[in-house]
Order: sequence, then C-alpha cells, then structure tokens
Amino acid sequence: MEKLQTAKPVTAIQAVRGMNDVLPADSPKWEFFEETVTRVARQYGYRNMRAPVVEHTPLFVRSIGEVTDIVEKEMYSFEDKLNGEKLTLRPELTAGLVRAAVEANLTYNGPVRIYTLGEVFRHERPQKGRYRQFNQFDVECFGFDGPDVDAEIMIMTARIWRALGIDDVRLEINSLGNADERAAYRAKLIAHYEAHLDALDDEAKRRLHSNPMRILDSKVASVIEVNKTAPNLLDSLEAESRTHFEELQRLLTGAGVAFVVNPRIVRGMDYYNRTAFEFVTERFGSPLTVCGGGRYDGLFEQLGGKPTPAIGFGMGVERVLMMLADRSHLAPLDAYVVHAGDAARTAAGRLAESLRDSSLAVAQHAGGGSFKSQMKKADASGARFALILGDNEATAGTVAVKPLRNAAGEPIQGEQAIISSSTVAAYLRQS
Ligand code: ATP
Ligand code: MG
Repeated sequence: MEKLQTAKPVTAIQAVRGMNDVLPADSPKWEFFEETVTRVARQYGYRNMRAPVVEHTPLFVRSIGEVTDIVEKEMYSFEDKLNGEKLTLRPELTAGLVRAAVEANLTYNGPVRIYTLGEVFRHERPQKGRYRQFNQFDVECFGFDGPDVDAEIMIMTARIWRALGIDDVRLEINSLGNADERAAYRAKLIAHYEAHLDALDDEAKRRLHSNPMRILDSKVASVIEVNKTAPNLLDSLEAESRTHFEELQRLLTGAGVAFVVNPRIVRGMDYYNRTAFEFVTERFGSPLTVCGGGRYDGLFEQLGGKPTPAIGFGMGVERVLMMLADRSHLAPLDAYVVHAGDAARTAAGRLAESLRDSSLAVAQHAGGGSFKSQMKKADASGARFALILGDNEATAGTVAVKPLRNAAGEPIQGEQAIISSSTVAAYLRQS
C-alpha cells in the first residue's frame, strides 16, 4: 500500500491590508443602503451608469490634478505586463464617468442625471473609516449650469439621510469661484503664507506655489493657526459667482435644508469650481466627512469633450454604514423547511418552489440530520416560520407550521398548526 503523504502545514492567505470582506451578517446593512440610495435617486429621475474599475493613469492625473494627495501618494498605478499600458485602479468615480460620457457623447440630446455605486482604491494608512478599498455612492449631473441642480443634489442627499434614519450630519457649502477668481485669490493667499513662512510645515511649503489652497485643509496645528487669519475666497468672488452662490443658498433655505457656509472647504481634487460642499458628522469625535462634492464645469473640456457644466458628489459608503444601526436580525427568510424521509423530501421541495412562486423567501434544509438538529438550523436561519414535513404529512398533503419570529425579527414561542400544504402561502402572509 502506498504510504500516505504527510501534508505540509500551509499558511492561509489573508486579505490585502485595508481591503475588507463583507460577510453575510454585515450585508443586510449594505443591501439596505444600496436599496435606499437607488430608490431615492430614481425618485429624482437619476439613471444608473457604470464605468470600469481600471482606467488609463493620465485620466486621473489630468482630472484630479498632479499636486493632490490622491495623485501624489494614494493611487494604485501599475503597468499592464502584457502590453505596457499605464493603468490605475480608480481612486474616485467622477473622472471615469466623465471619460465615458465624452466617449459616448452622452449629453448629445441634453443634460443627464446619473448615479452609480462602486469600489474605489486609495493607498492610505488604514484606520477606522479609512480603507484602501472602499465604496462610493456617486451622483453626477452632466450639462446643467445650476444653481438649481446644485440645490437639487443636496436636497436629494438630505432625503437620503432621512430615509437611512441618520439625523446628525451637517451640510457645509462653499464657493470656489471661477478660474480667474481663484487666480486672484491664490495670489493673496500666497502673500499671506509668505508672511508666516515659519509656521508652515514641509508639506505646506512644498504646496505654497503649486497648490496653496490645499494648505487651507491642513491638519497641522501651526498651519491651522495661520489659516485662521487667511484671506477668504468668498471675498474674491465677482458678481456672477456671487449670485450663483447666493441663489443656491436661497434654494436650500426655500427647501428647508439647513446648511452652514464654510469657506475652508477646498476639496481634494483640482477640478472643482464654484459650488463645493460636504456633509460632515461629529458622531465619531473629530469631524468626519461622509459625503463631498461640487461643481466641475471645466472637466469635460479638460478631458477632450465639449464644454459641459457639471456637478456631482461622492458618498463614502463605509462611513455611512458606521452610522447605521445593526440590521442583521432582520429576517431575510419567510420560512425554513424541515423534512425527514424520501417522500417528505420531495414534498418539501415542491412546497418550497410553490411558495417561491408566491414571492416568499424559503430555504429548504439540505444535508440531512435529525428533526432536532434541523430545527436548530431553522432557528438560526432567522426565518419567521419553520415548515415541518414528515412522511405522514407528505402522504396527507399537510404541513406543520411553527412560528419562530415576529415581524421585528424577535424570537417567539408560537403554537404549531397543521394545515393543508395548498394554504401555506396564504397562511404565512396573514400571520
Ligand atoms: P478625507 O478628507 O477624509 O480624506 P476626501 O476628501 O479624500 O476625504 P473624497 O475624495 O471627497 O474624500 O471622497 C468622498 C468620500 O469618500 C469622503 O467624504 C469619505 O466619506 C469617503 N472616503 C474618502 N477616503 C476614504 C477612505 N480611504 N476610506 C473610506 N472612505 C473614504
Ligand atoms: Mg483623502
């Protein structure tokens, strides 16, 4: 006889750092989120669109901007070994969607409103609410110059918070003006920082001439101090941008959506102009941005398209899920079918299929085992009812129905009822 080979111990392969699995117990939250945002977006006339996870690297460098956190240090870029193309895992969703819209001439017949859900990738230091693969819910309006649609996406987001049961997010808005206004502001800002050079850290010094507005976003204490006396971009706005911003505020007020003006909002991508906004929560100690966006009227042209004013936002799904109550107890199943014996197994299969025909969610026990162990599985499944079939029931065309949980998903001790198998669907619906 051949000698059994002793198996070498193998180390299990683990997930990539900063990239998380969503296990079945967590997924009810994800599904609730996805169903809610999809429903609300459709209510406002938004249509779904999806772009690939991988794009040509220059797309992001050109759109997000060379001197930004994302492009400087957070992108997963690589060369396709098979053909030498320079590629990047998308670090945000807007650039790919705009690229696709230009390629498909999507706004040919007029403006479009779209939403998408998807994974994005940033090489950051993982911590709570900060991952290397995370998800965004993204909304984009192509071809609208606002400010009506600017207000609309914020009003829609306010509805999303209500639908999710979240009431502790604050809307902060700002105007970044147009290119000329920003250039004028930039000069004032550089002069201000040059007068306080000793308070700037290395990063701020490096950005002083390449991207001084990013310094406003600094988390370094001495820089925060200098920022307190920095000139305000809103003072550099000319009539048209000012009117746009005032009109947005009037529309939000008219819709009953509360907001504060925060002149420190600069956003992490270069493509933004005029309207910029964030939804921020204080629930986790320091302020955490759960959703951020703004207007990017120049991006289509920058990516080779026709001039197309646009606005959009990205919502960090993981950060929103941190704010949602646990939903794992909510029963995904109406019934769990327990059976013993050959005739009962066939009858159980037929019963389960007929209930699914009636749109009920039914799991049929698989893998054998005693009634007792099957009932344990029924309990653990979260189903509202156990449907029990032995060969006697199969012959008689009946089923024993045992209630396990109420509509709120709480365990209950209910009386078992024996009913005709043809009435089970109606019985489950009534109870
Ligand atoms: P932060 O200032 O927290 O780094 P950001 O300005 O880089 O955020 P955006 O590029 O505006 O974020 O992305 C939109 C949303 O995506 C953020 O508001 C946040 O909710 C979420 N987000 C950003 N980075 C991460 C990450 N590494 N992990 C999880 N969610 C993230
Ligand atoms: Mg960031």
